Amino acid sequence: MKGNNFKKKNKRKGSDLMSLFTAKGNEVKEIINKEKIDLKEAFIRLKAENESVPVRVLGTEDYVAYKAHSDFKKGLYNTPCLSVIGELCPYCVAHKEGGEDWKNFYAKERFMFAFAELNSGQVKILEVSKNQAKKLIAQIDEYADEIEAGEVAFNLTRTGTGTSTTYLLNLITPKKMKEIQAKFDEFDGVTVDLEFFEERLVPKSPTYMLNLLEEAGFPIEEHFDEELVNEARLEKQKFTNNDDDDDDDDVKPIEGADEDTF
Ligand SMILES: [Zn+2]
Repeated sequence: MKGNNFKKKNKRKGSDLMSLFTAKGNEVKEIINKEKIDLKEAFIRLKAENESVPVRVLGTEDYVAYKAHSDFKKGLYNTPCLSVIGELCPYCVAHKEGGEDWKNFYAKERFMFAFAELNSGQVKILEVSKNQAKKLIAQIDEYADEIEAGEVAFNLTRTGTGTSTTYLLNLITPKKMKEIQAKFDEFDGVTVDLEFFEERLVPKSPTYMLNLLEEAGFPIEEHFDEELVNEARLEKQKFTNNDDDDDDDDVKPIEGADEDTF
């Protein structure tokens, strides 16, 4: 009987064993085939006034909203607000407790639009402010029928500078359309889902935010738990030690967010 007891105690349930595996069959194929997203290449960046890029608008609702903190003068670029998912958001703390200097650091609405960029042949994201989004949506709605029928391509053009920066979707003439028709046709049937955006909006850890806040002159020790501050310090040390290490898992601010796109 002793032996049996022993066996019973040490016997694992099948489900426990199964939990060591993270994927099976098709899921494995998916993981293997999934290309790693290069965030540096994932965004459309039009730096200069009147710079443009030919695009195909794949669907009439390929845009999402999220909330982000930013203060370019402090070197803090668009970073998704963690309060939205019910977590401690150090940037919200800085806004609430930082006084005058941080009063504009509240989480503002930001928008991501997906366009098929016809030069690179890749679906990319344009990251914009609320006013810029409004104008883009109005233009997309205006050509909704033609977009859905796959009949029109646009030059996505940046106009204006600073806070008056606007993005326009200018129709490409039939003559010029001929030159890009082949690239345009490659996107027949291609759609964008929420996952596409999720993969490109990478949340930053609270400790990462703490380190950036400190660099921006926010007294983190006065406003955050000792434990969290220590964790941030350790992380910073580790990061500094591994400076040359090109680790893909490093947290980085959202690429593609220009100073003047808010
Ligand atoms: Zn926040």
